[in-house]
Amino acid sequence: MKNKEFHISLKCLFCGSELKGDTEKEYISGDMIKCQECSELNDYDSLKDVAIEEGKAAVTSYAKDEISKMLKGIFKK
Ligand SMILES: [Zn+2]
Repeated sequence: MKNKEFHISLKCLFCGSELKGDTEKEYISGDMIKCQECSELNDYDSLKDVAIEEGKAAVTSYAKDEISKMLKGIFKK
């Protein structure tokens, strides 16, 4: 099975805009990332939690797709 890449973007918790952080910088727990749109400071840990949840949802729907394909295959005889 091919590895599927999941694109998860960090979104501002206040206005929902995609955060474009400094790519040179590696954010660590406790950092605050400033939103370019609304200038609110987003807590890195909260953003990470949201991204993890988003990732789980993406993996789950992908797995469901694969399973339903497999099931269809079974009856294709
Ligand atoms: Zn914002």
